[in-house]
Amino acid sequence: MLKLYNTLTQRKEVFKSLEVGKVKMYNCGPTVYDFAHIGNLRTFIFADTLRRHLENIGYEVRQIMNITDVGHLTADDLNQADSGEDKMLKASKREKKTPQDIANFYTEKFFEDLEKLNFKKAHFFPRATAHIPQIIKMVEILIEKGLAYKKNGNVFYDVTKFKDYGKLSKKKIADLKENARLEEHPDKRHGYDFALWLKAPKEHILKWESPWSLGYPGWHIECSAMSIEYLGETMDIHTGGEDHIFPHHENEIAQSEGCTGKEFANFWMHVRFLLVDDKKMSKSKGNFYILSDILAKGYSAMDFRLLMLSSHYRSNLNFTWDGLKQASTNLKKITRFETRIRNYQPLTEAESEIDFKKYLADFTEAMDNDLNTPKALAILFEIISETNKEIDNQKLNQKNLDLIKFAWEKINKDLGIKIEEKKFAQIPAEIIDLAEKRSDAKKGNDFSKADTLRKEIEEQGYNIDDLPGGNYAIIKK
Ligand SMILES: [Zn+2]
Repeated sequence: MLKLYNTLTQRKEVFKSLEVGKVKMYNCGPTVYDFAHIGNLRTFIFADTLRRHLENIGYEVRQIMNITDVGHLTADDLNQADSGEDKMLKASKREKKTPQDIANFYTEKFFEDLEKLNFKKAHFFPRATAHIPQIIKMVEILIEKGLAYKKNGNVFYDVTKFKDYGKLSKKKIADLKENARLEEHPDKRHGYDFALWLKAPKEHILKWESPWSLGYPGWHIECSAMSIEYLGETMDIHTGGEDHIFPHHENEIAQSEGCTGKEFANFWMHVRFLLVDDKKMSKSKGNFYILSDILAKGYSAMDFRLLMLSSHYRSNLNFTWDGLKQASTNLKKITRFETRIRNYQPLTEAESEIDFKKYLADFTEAMDNDLNTPKALAILFEIISETNKEIDNQKLNQKNLDLIKFAWEKINKDLGIKIEEKKFAQIPAEIIDLAEKRSDAKKGNDFSKADTLRKEIEEQGYNIDDLPGGNYAIIKK
């Protein structure tokens, strides 16, 4: 039975979809003025794993991820607009490209990352700039309903008019009043109101005609407009990073529910921050990484994916290079396991006593428990170590082997680990010969000979990894 933690109710709940067998899911996607950093990627890997698990247990999932390609201010105040804090504009100046070129370039790069990380592609990646009519329509309804007001070509949401404001973030309007920023837009009634539409300053490149001004949409409205367009008024699951809870998702609820009068999303799921060396990632601290930094150090995108799965999405994940190295070692174990079960020829009629069905059930139970990926991975590594032992002792028959292969296939539908085909290339006899000689040298405590043989194996394009019990794995580089 699938249970998911819902930020809205702040507890784990049994998941029930709106429509039997179908799930409608929306993921807040990237803002494409820069490369996605590894913290963003963690959030997206979570969404991909959630989709994989839902499909694996029999749901048909419709997944929508937006691409924010319209410039947004970090706040709604005029001063920022004048000083060009709009991130898309800033990138546009930095790279001497038009905002459209910036958005296209980084969208392309984002898709390349998803491909490398073996994502299932969302069914649609709607872009904000292609949905201005839907956004305008929604703002008009909010004005008609008295939830939004216009002034001098700008439109703001009056949060005091929406009775459920704060239900997701558990913030109270009284507290927001105290925290309201000093420099607020002069056209706002209250500091904590938020922009739905802003009149564009002269230098703003991306702007559209609207009933209020030549301008551009506020920070939050695109997700409300596009999710309703593609998933309907109520969806099953909405995901994002923990920093989205407030204000972004709180405001999405105010906009969507204010407009439709219906519950916007039944489940809200949020991924906690990724830290780097126990610190918040920041460009100025020099601990800011993107996927290509990982690849440049010789690690694979799959090493990174495995590392992300090794911690629960509701815990902070502390990224370290040592942690990545460990994930890389674990990936080699998985690769060796897959190579062995692919190539193993059972020579015995004896039946292994290990209950591989029970292991698979335990794995599924861990994933059903709010996607407990660290526990699920621990179970996988138990399966691997038990399988290795049984293969070493020639204890697997065909039936056992078929069951292990079935279990691994099912497990990997959740994990999404893609092992390069070249790793499965047959290992030439002379390499195995060298490896055996090395093994003998080690047994005889001749470590310098063992080292020389390792180098020889590596020079011929193979890696050799030592495993417990004097075993080793050879993998093509
Ligand atoms: Zn969003």
